[in-house]
Amino acid sequence: MSKEPKYKPPGFETRAIHSGAAPDPTTGARNVPIYQTNSFVFDDVDHAASLFNLQTFGYIYSRLTNPTVSALEEKVAALENGRGAVATSSGHAAQLVAFYVLMEPGDRFVASRNLYGGSITQFTHSFRKFDWHVDFVDPTDPENFRAAITPETKAIFTENLANPGGIIVDLEPVSAIAREAGIPLIVDNTMATPYLCQPFDWGADLVVHSMTKFLGGHGAAMGGTVVESGRFDWQQNDKFPGLTQPDPAYHGLTFHETFGDFGFTTKAKAVALRDLGPTLSPMNAFLIMTGIETLSLRMARHVENAQAVAEFLEGHPAVSWVSYAGLKSSPFHALAQKYLPKGAGSVFTFGVKGGYQSGIGMVESVELLSHLANIGDTRSLIIHPASTTHRQLTEEQRVAAGAGPDVVRLSIGLETVDDIIADLDQALDRAMKAPVSVKAAAE
Ligand SMILES: *Cc1c(COP(=O)(O)O)cnc(C)c1O
Repeated sequence: MSKEPKYKPPGFETRAIHSGAAPDPTTGARNVPIYQTNSFVFDDVDHAASLFNLQTFGYIYSRLTNPTVSALEEKVAALENGRGAVATSSGHAAQLVAFYVLMEPGDRFVASRNLYGGSITQFTHSFRKFDWHVDFVDPTDPENFRAAITPETKAIFTENLANPGGIIVDLEPVSAIAREAGIPLIVDNTMATPYLCQPFDWGADLVVHSMTKFLGGHGAAMGGTVVESGRFDWQQNDKFPGLTQPDPAYHGLTFHETFGDFGFTTKAKAVALRDLGPTLSPMNAFLIMTGIETLSLRMARHVENAQAVAEFLEGHPAVSWVSYAGLKSSPFHALAQKYLPKGAGSVFTFGVKGGYQSGIGMVESVELLSHLANIGDTRSLIIHPASTTHRQLTEEQRVAAGAGPDVVRLSIGLETVDDIIADLDQALDRAMKAPVSVKAAAE
């Protein structure tokens, strides 16, 4: 007889479809309804009072909580093997909410310098208005995170799979450094999704997502989320008064003491969403939830297509380099096998011979791929960072950010892979001719 326990937790695909999404008890609706309502009726005055005091779970007003949004939060928490999640209007809103719970004026955090460009700008410029300060480090040596920690440091923030550069951060030693310092490790898992990597397994304490990308997957709705592992002990030191000290805005309630392993999530909804207002709409929650149902199928095809395209480009005479951790030539190949055994995502960069002119030539020559600033769509996407997302930077800053003149970024979609490759092939051909024709036109 097998000694296996009778109960086996449901698999990833089952959770992606069923978690948070039981049939509606009143109508029997099988899909989670879009609760397109701003507010919810109280049973009586006592019920209202207990809701406002956070003594009863229930719905008051959709800036704080909404049943459609709650269903999505439960689904994402289940996929990350977390304790709870808060959904927000965008990925950037998720980052704002995460730090709003953790930080006091004058506090600092250490972040990887290889982040989504918008995150670098948010941390550097807008967070300063809250008197929150970031110290950026090169994430390829985990010790750099330790060296940057000060008594005011309240968190470490990194992407596990970062672009440009196809950089994979060694999460295990970084999480050990955070643990020793008594601060949480926050991982932006947008590029990998919980299908390819589960940061909580490697010691992360909070996971943030731009659900705008692969989770939604259709390029149709913006959204973000912060997921809490439930394992961080906020009470171990006095660094997090927002969670461990009585909250004057809630009659002296202490979030960690009252809500335990989902104290962070409760504070994020009851205070950060209430007072900052970056709430996800029920319609977008519905769209993203529908996307998540097919996450595993989509991600498997995204990485299969990306691997094939990366191998094609690596062998192309007009391409000088390809930076994809799924390739043996990548310095991050070994880390990819450890942290992303199912595939290294579907966003990567390559260098086109002929520099800036050829880069522009490429994005203007594609026919199937879309030239735009997004990733994680069913469609294959292309951008030339030096002429778009990074054009405000100096040439030196661009090169440092991995957005030099020859860099082209791809987000490989779900089309027939031969069609993606054929389009890139003809675009490379035309781009190679572009500098000549530009010169000819000038003469
Ligand atoms: C897009 C993105 C963000 C920001 O998310 P929005 O939904 O656009 O606000 C943050 N991190 C990563 C890795 C992203 O790709």
